[in-house]
Amino acid sequence: NFISAVVPPDEVGVKFDDIGALEDVKKTLNELVTLPMRRPELFSHGNLLRPCKGVLLFGPPGTGKTLLAKALATEAGANFISITGSTLTSKWFGDAEKLTKALFSFASRLAPVIIFVDEVDSLLGARGGASEHEATRRMRNEFMAAWDGLRSKDSQRILILGATNRPFDLDDAVIRRLPRRIYVDLPDAENRMKILRILLAQENVESDFKFDELANATEGYSGSDLKNLCIAAAYRPVQELLEEEREVGASVAYDATSMNELRKWNEQY
Ligand code: ATP
Repeated sequence: NFISAVVPPDEVGVKFDDIGALEDVKKTLNELVTLPMRRPELFSHGNLLRPCKGVLLFGPPGTGKTLLAKALATEAGANFISITGSTLTSKWFGDAEKLTKALFSFASRLAPVIIFVDEVDSLLGARGGASEHEATRRMRNEFMAAWDGLRSKDSQRILILGATNRPFDLDDAVIRRLPRRIYVDLPDAENRMKILRILLAQENVESDFKFDELANATEGYSGSDLKNLCIAAAYRPVQELLEEEREVGASVAYDATSMNELRKWNEQY
């Protein structure tokens, strides 16, 4: 269970259409990943046209990297394996070799598959010199060796998709193995509006709600910040309802006097 999730493509539950904005990122991922996974025969001749084995998504927190990775599995019809760099290195120090081998042989059996490595810098960060934990170094080397060792048949159908907020912490050898690096940026006002429309699509929003005003007022917000804002707003009517009930509640039957009577009755019988 060092793998945090294994999900078949039809159960991932997110598609590119559920992600607001990031149109260029989705297009690039479709070309790089969806096509080779769905049509491997197009990539099986010659040497020039090779599917890539590694893609890096980098950018500020909450910009939708995890969401993109999941949706990509749906689009590409691939199984989705998710591991988190920091969990791997902290919990599984001793078993680096065994775990890495198990992960890659499991992935070969599940291909086509996307192995999503969140916080990839924790797992495959730059060499930390003498202070680096021996086990971390071993884990990284094992991981890279297994990755390089994918047979060419498998490499078309197994993709390592890394995500990080700290690309500058990655080891150079790892960066070389992630030849396609895609910047997932904070949304501008127009893109914030697209994200808000998606987040509020199923909600009861006034028909003249000014999406553009909210988008303009949320400079610097990530997709995740916008989602939290919408959740907080959705709770408002619930809170108002609870307050109303509390006010009404105080003025009706079960005031302190009635409660006392009830208790007395309870003691008597
Ligand atoms: P971190 O770097 O912190 O892991 P992340 O880039 O992986 O963050 P996500 O976990 O994908 O970001 O985003 C968090 C949540 O924010 C998502 O589950 C989704 O609900 C919402 N969200 C983020 N970006 C978008 C977007 N472009 N469209 C719709 N929802 C979004």
